[in-house]
Amino acid sequence: MRGDDLSVPDITQLFRARGDEVAAVCAASDGLRRDTVGDVVRYVVTRNINYTNVCYFKCRFCAFSKGKLSESLRGRPYDLALDEVARRVAEAWQRGATEVCLQGGIHPDYTGARYLEICRTVRDAAPNIHIHAFSPLEITQGAATLGLSIAGFLERLREAGLGTLPGTAAEVLDDDVRARLCPDKINTAQWLDVIETAHLLGLRTTSTIMFGHLDSYDDWARHLLHLRALQSRTGGITEFVPLPFVHMEAPVYLKGHARKGPSFREAVLMHAVARLALHPLIPHIQTSWVKMGADGAAVALASGANDLGGTLMNESISRAAGTEHGQELPPAEMEAIIRAAGRRPLQRTTLYQPVSAERRRAAFAADPLAPTVETPLARRVHA
Ligand code: SF4
Repeated sequence: MRGDDLSVPDITQLFRARGDEVAAVCAASDGLRRDTVGDVVRYVVTRNINYTNVCYFKCRFCAFSKGKLSESLRGRPYDLALDEVARRVAEAWQRGATEVCLQGGIHPDYTGARYLEICRTVRDAAPNIHIHAFSPLEITQGAATLGLSIAGFLERLREAGLGTLPGTAAEVLDDDVRARLCPDKINTAQWLDVIETAHLLGLRTTSTIMFGHLDSYDDWARHLLHLRALQSRTGGITEFVPLPFVHMEAPVYLKGHARKGPSFREAVLMHAVARLALHPLIPHIQTSWVKMGADGAAVALASGANDLGGTLMNESISRAAGTEHGQELPPAEMEAIIRAAGRRPLQRTTLYQPVSAERRRAAFAADPLAPTVETPLARRVHA
């Protein structure tokens, strides 16, 4: 609570808490949250756009990506046409969004040019919407396919309208875990390098952990310490988001190599321990209603979390993995959860600023979403 650096054994000991100890860790984190960021719980009105579910990577936890011939898996392979991306963005703006979040599989035909084109499409469709897009994996692949450095590609994306990056594709930042969980993905050093490079260019990012599969408490501790060290160098991380592993459709679970996600105790402790381990460098701990459910998110808010994330409008990655917490949590429902937890709701921008009265009115008066079109592969016109 003094903000000192902790060691791996210190943090691991907190994750081992049981019974009354869990309550003590959560209460300490909740008190620290109250003292540092107060009782406001923010959320952002955003739309998730997963532009393709085709991916040539082989992450063993992933139920989202589809090989071209695997239509027997959940859903058909799709690759959104740019006019469908533009339509979803324009609709998001009409519905009060201040942000769109764009991520997808790594389609074998995609190069960095496609990511630039997606940014320009969003910018044209809604000039004032914030573009939160592209994991460090997409940045790495986009840069490589254009023969650019990471910094060079990030500069190009920023010119095309990119505002911030999601700190996804982190999973657990430990190369032994990654070798078993996502062997062909970028390694720990590459992930940290992309994020640090973005920060040095003035592009802020979130940070995440996807935990509770074949990892250990020591791995979680090392992950938190990597983020703490990075943040102490750059200050560019806006928030930390624990993402409990959803096992139901994950190949690594179906083959018997992973457990069924973290226990509820562990999922709640991740929020509490993260606040303690990252204090005072990362002040915002976000709980994911998609992964935790509304009831679980309320417990996390009482255990160190101070942010409820995004309304999302469309959520397909966790849904493909088997979660049942829905696709959209409209602002009124976000605020109801926050008030029921005894806290004060506030709609925010991506960078934690208050939104205008006009955005808030639009968000609360939103019409139902029009049906989405998931452009089948054959219809895609290549850039
Ligand atoms: S997690 Fe991402 S990179 Fe890995 S297989 Fe799934 S879509 Fe592809």
